[in-house]
Amino acid sequence: MTNITFTMIKPDAVSNGYIGPILAKINEAGFRIVAMKYFHLEPEKAAEFYAVHKERPFYNDLVKYMSSGPIVAAILEKENAVEDFRTLIGATDPSKAAPGTIRNLFAKSIDANAIHGSDSDANAGIEGSFFFSQMERF
Ligand code: UDP
Ligand code: MG
Repeated sequence: MTNITFTMIKPDAVSNGYIGPILAKINEAGFRIVAMKYFHLEPEKAAEFYAVHKERPFYNDLVKYMSSGPIVAAILEKENAVEDFRTLIGATDPSKAAPGTIRNLFAKSIDANAIHGSDSDANAGIEGSFFFSQMERF
């Protein structure tokens, strides 16, 4: 009963020096790293990744923000991965994120909120495959 989720450490968390502390939290919570890379997300790729939000008012700003600096993308494995990871990162708005969650600890605003986590098993599969080939998974 193991499964996967997909995450990105977003540009604000990277530039604030939180890659290490966030990976430590992920590790402590029992996730195994299946795949990982550090790179600049081109605006075209960011637009494609967030296409489900195309009609929402924050879409253009979100695309600009996600391509404003390097990110860390990863596929993570654990039992109940999607739900447990959403619990670990906390609410979208860091001011509403539970104490000790990654967004509570490392994010300052609802737009620059430190980290992404897939919202379903289906999306985890789609998002992981958007960034990683089979050969890049361990
Ligand atoms: N976002 C934003 N303003 C909002 C809601 C969301 O800028 O009012 C951004 C934020 O970076 C969020 C992302 O859009 O993480 C995707 O939104 P979603 O509702 O899917 O939140 P998440 O699944 O990341 O918690
Ligand atoms: Mg989402």
